This record gives sequence, structure tokens and C-alpha cells, in this order.
Amino acid sequence: MELEHLSVENAQKCVLESVVRLDAEPVRLESSLGRVLAEDVRANRDLPPYDVSAMDGFALRSADLSNVPATLEIIEDIKAGDMPTKTLLPGQCARIMTGAPVPQGADAVIRVEDTLELSTSRVQISRAVKPGNDIRLQGEGMRNGDVVLKAGTEITPGVIGILATVKRTQMQVYSRPRVAILSTGNELEGINEPIDPNKIPNSNSYALMAQLQELGIEPVLLGIARDDPEELALYLRRGLEYDVLLVSGGSSVGVHDYVRPTIEALGVKMHFWRVAIRPGHPIAFGSTEKSIVFGLPGNPVSSMVCFEQFVLPALRGMMGHPRLYRRTIQARLAHPLKMRPGRTEFIRVVLTRDNGDYVATPTGTQSSGVLLSMAQADGLLVVPADSTGLTAGEYVPVQLLDGTMFQDELGFRE
Ligand code: AMP
Ligand code: MG
Repeated sequence: MELEHLSVENAQKCVLESVVRLDAEPVRLESSLGRVLAEDVRANRDLPPYDVSAMDGFALRSADLSNVPATLEIIEDIKAGDMPTKTLLPGQCARIMTGAPVPQGADAVIRVEDTLELSTSRVQISRAVKPGNDIRLQGEGMRNGDVVLKAGTEITPGVIGILATVKRTQMQVYSRPRVAILSTGNELEGINEPIDPNKIPNSNSYALMAQLQELGIEPVLLGIARDDPEELALYLRRGLEYDVLLVSGGSSVGVHDYVRPTIEALGVKMHFWRVAIRPGHPIAFGSTEKSIVFGLPGNPVSSMVCFEQFVLPALRGMMGHPRLYRRTIQARLAHPLKMRPGRTEFIRVVLTRDNGDYVATPTGTQSSGVLLSMAQADGLLVVPADSTGLTAGEYVPVQLLDGTMFQDELGFRE
């Protein structure tokens, strides 16, 4: 089947070929969540620093338990932070707490639940244990000098724990792009302007702002440019000072859609203007030496869907993330859908659970102007371009609109 235009995947490839990972910068541990490490991080000590107990119980010689129950003499109390002062001889044990060092002579720990204290100096052990039982070996957690975190690791709460363990209060991470948002259109009304019944509220600037914030990027809002080549040129020139410029609207082929000629006149090399995607047909992408520019469709849903497919992977690549794409799951379609072939279609769906399956139900009208369909959506159901319809109960890929879940490959086929 002939696609109407460039496929989504090929358009994504074109975008990804034009972006480079940004340089590294230092960041403090407290502000590093969500960033990507630009350096390998090594352990600076063995952890645990010596063999320690994994349980509250008694450190003992396992050979003393060949006949159980056995009674042992308690010669010492070792708490976490204490150092043992005595070596265990046959028939002896030490009371020990989780994390405390195992004394010389001991080769195992038995948990307190398997013991009966007869007096402060005598304990009865009810079962035998093997050598090494409930002992955490020196260096089991990390070994001095080993790389514990590789460059390219996303900093999650667990990674922050490791960084704190190796006492890194500052580390190198990939920079975040500086992003500007420009909305265009004579019909647009600014958020602080009084309501004019003939105008359309500018929602795209803010929805895009939030999509960026979800990726950890704080964008600059350039405002609204009128459909006038001179005014547009003024705004676009300002926007091209950023690493990434998102232009909303004016990318179609209407007589007042001046974005393309104006932006080309400013020296931007355009790579594509149309993609076989619904919603979002008029999606443009271009670049200069130091910036990339997306011309996003004005329709509010198209704008958000195109951000998801083209802008998001590019930004994640620039920030050094190894996983560029939204997590995609398989869901059962709740009811049949008639499709118009020719473009890959992204249908807004709500996800519920049934018998261990995800069930995808479209969020009412799928008109690209109805933003509520996006506001209610848990995910985007991806329908291949050649599909003429889907049947109820069919398993379909759904891209999760979850700000935290990503994967390293595109999760659908067109
Ligand atoms: P355009 O891509 O400029 O042809 O715009 C397509 C549709 O999207 C029109 O109905 C516009 O009113 C609407 N639109 C354009 N820009 C915005 C915006 N910033 N916020 C909300 N709707 C918009
Ligand atoms: Mg317009």
C-alpha cells in the first residue's frame, strides 16, 4: 500500500538523525533526579566493609551444631557499629545484630527465632546451619574500584541511593535542551485577554509546556505571532536562538500559513512537511547549525500527538536517555472500530483491567479539535496505516501516556 506521505517511523528516524546528544554539565545530587549520567561512577569502598550478619541472632561455629539442640556459651554482644573483641572458640557464640561484623572464629549466623536463651550467658540452638548462613560477605553490595553506574544511566531514586552510598554530592549529567514555544494564528486569544466570542483560546502553548515539563524541561513561552510574515519572522528569529523551537499552527497549506516560507527565509533547512499520521498530518521538521524546529499542527490534539511521536524522542535523545520511546503495551479492544486506511492513526483510549488484560476503550469523539479526548486518555492506540478496521477483542498496541515509562524501541508496526 502506498502511504500518503513519509511514515511515522521514517519521520522519527529523520528527526533522530538531526539531533545530537548535548554536552555534559555538573549537577548536585539533590537536583539530579531524572537526569542522565554522563560519567561512569565507581565504588570508593567495599560494602559491606567486612562480613556482617544478615539477621538479629547469634554468630557461631556451624560445626558446633552437629547435634541439635546444642547449648552454646554467649561470650559477647555485638551491635551494628561495634567491632568484635573476641575470637570464638568451640562451644562459644556471640549475640549479634543485623549489620554487625561477624567475629573471628564464627562461620555462620542463626536467627534469634531458632534459638532459646537459657540465661544471659547460655543459649540453646534448635537447628543446624550451613557455613555462611545469614552472613553478608564483604564487598557483596559493591567492591572498591568497580564501576557501579555506567554513563547513560537515568538517575532514578535507586540510583540516587547508590550515588549517596559512594558519596557523590555532584556528578556530570547531559544538559537539557533550551526549548521555546511559539503559537501562531490571528484567531488566537491569549490566556490573560478577555473572552472574545470570535476567538480561539491559545491552549497549545500550555499543553506543550506541560509535555516538556513532564520530560524535565522548563520551556520559554514566546507568546502568539499573528499570521503576518514580518511579525512571524521577528518571533521565529527569537525562537531560533534556542536549541529547540516548537511552532504551533500555520504549517498547513492555507494561504495564510506563512510558517514554511518565513522559516526557510531565515535559513532553516526543512526535512519534511507531511507525515502519514492521523491526527497531525501537517507536521514539519527542520534544522539549522545549532537548532531544530518542529512545525506542529494547530489542532490541539494533533499538536499533542505529534509532540509525543516526534518531539519527545528527539528531546530524550538530546538528554542522553537510552530509552527514547513511550512504553507500549498490548491491550484488548473494547469495541470494533472502522478505520480509514492511508495513515498511521493514534486513537485516544482509556485503559481498564479485566482478567489480567488491559482493555482499551476510545475516549468518545476522535475529532482532532476535541482536546477532552486527550485530557481523558491513558494512552494512544496505534492503528497501522493499512487497516480498514479493528474487531472487538483484538489485541492492539497502546502507547502509555505515562510520564515515567519508556522503552528503547518503537512498540508498534505501521
Ligand atoms: P492551523 O494549523 O494554524 O491551520 O490551525 C488549525 C486549527 O487549530 C485551527 O482551528 C486553530 O484555531 C487551532 N489552533 C491553532 N493554534 C492553536 C493554539 N495555540 N491553541 C489552540 N488551538 C489552536
Ligand atoms: Mg493558523
